[in-house]
Amino acid sequence: MSIYFDNAATTAMTPEILSLIDELNLSLFGNPSSLHSHGRAARQALNQARQTIASVLNANSEEIIFTSGATEANSFVFAKLNYDLIITSPAEHSSVIEAAKASSKAISWLDLDEQGYINLEQLEELLEENYEQRILLSIMHANNEIGTLQDLEAISELKQKYHNVIWHSDCVQSFAKYPIDVKELSLDLLSASAHKIHGPKGCGLLYIKKQFQPEQGLIIGGGQEFGLRSGTENIVSIIAMAEASKILSKKVDSLKTLHNYIQKELASIDGLIINGPPGRLLGNFNICLSNCRLKSEELVLQMDLAGFCVSSGSACSSNKAAAEIISSYVLRACKIKEQIASKSVRVSLSILNNETELEEFIKITKEIQSRFPEFVTELGNMG
Ligand code: PMP
Repeated sequence: MSIYFDNAATTAMTPEILSLIDELNLSLFGNPSSLHSHGRAARQALNQARQTIASVLNANSEEIIFTSGATEANSFVFAKLNYDLIITSPAEHSSVIEAAKASSKAISWLDLDEQGYINLEQLEELLEENYEQRILLSIMHANNEIGTLQDLEAISELKQKYHNVIWHSDCVQSFAKYPIDVKELSLDLLSASAHKIHGPKGCGLLYIKKQFQPEQGLIIGGGQEFGLRSGTENIVSIIAMAEASKILSKKVDSLKTLHNYIQKELASIDGLIINGPPGRLLGNFNICLSNCRLKSEELVLQMDLAGFCVSSGSACSSNKAAAEIISSYVLRACKIKEQIASKSVRVSLSILNNETELEEFIKITKEIQSRFPEFVTELGNMG
């Protein structure tokens, strides 16, 4: 069995969640819209899960809409809100970038520095210049590829200074790992996904402040989810997501321990560059073996052969045709040199990993590095 270090792409369910799902599939199969006892039990459990999620975010229950995942939540934001101009960054997840483009609204792209931080001065200038427009500002909390954590407090300050701004944040990678208080931050919309927090796939949520809720959602029909997301609720997955968020937030310290351990070990490897800032998303390391000749995909395959699952770029970009992929669009947006970007891979940990796996990984990384040294000729480095 391989050791799984691709937790930014998806996570395995914890044993607690797996057995909860089994139990719920047997006992809680009712439709929450039915009047009988099975229906009422499902409705009560759904309300409870919504309340759990709402308290994690300090939101009101009626502001949590369960969806099929964060992609749907992000699509909802761009398709259903009322705005004139989008301000976002080129390092957002493709479900934000593509939904923004599909909206046919004007888009202002924020510059990023080499560590992946947005330019706050430029943001303020854009807010100032466009004060007469209704602005949809979409800035993710934690970047899935490079691990940059944006300064939500600083963005919040700017947002509150300009009253025509609706602020959305894709919090898929940080949800349940970091405290996020939507009221304190004055955050209007937030997306999260169950399968990134050891819950099941095909389930996510959109937090949407009451005042921005449209008459209808993206998916129309029976009027479930306060009329904002029709379709019989994926009740078992929703309850599992709420439970998974509680489990992960309680176990975050074990992830911190693994994070600190691997950060120290990686820093001791000769020629290894960690892309992104030092204070990064827990468990997320985008690394480049500068003195090894393997390109990202080759390194991923060598690591796979050695028993480790890591990734090159985001899993959602892997569906693009080979010709479309040069190196990660996120690394390019951060203006990381192609020489480095084309050799970078992402190692992402979870609470299910342990220190022994990390020790083994460090050993293997050094081995691969010495087996595939960069070609050096009299003309210099050929990489
Ligand atoms: N945003 C980010 C930052 C992500 O990492 C992902 C998953 N790769 C998504 C959105 C999409 O989430 P889902 O798979 O639930 O649609």
